[in-house]
Amino acid sequence: MSNGIKCRCERCAVGGLMGPVVLITLGALFLVGKMGWRYDFGDLWPVLLIVIGIVKIVESMASTEGHTGS
Ligand SMILES: [Zn+2]
Repeated sequence: MSNGIKCRCERCAVGGLMGPVVLITLGALFLVGKMGWRYDFGDLWPVLLIVIGIVKIVESMASTEGHTGS
């Protein structure tokens, strides 16, 4: 984020995927609802936590080689 120069290391790349992955997961949940699978969103929101957790695990295992950020 600093100086507008984006770090290209794996960890920052994975971290940058967090937003899109959360949006895609939300979109998929709504799509499934639209396609007729009736569910209560209150039953499925933990899926988001799981997805975020998975991204966090991948992020923590990703290499920081070439990390240029602070
Ligand atoms: Zn980095």
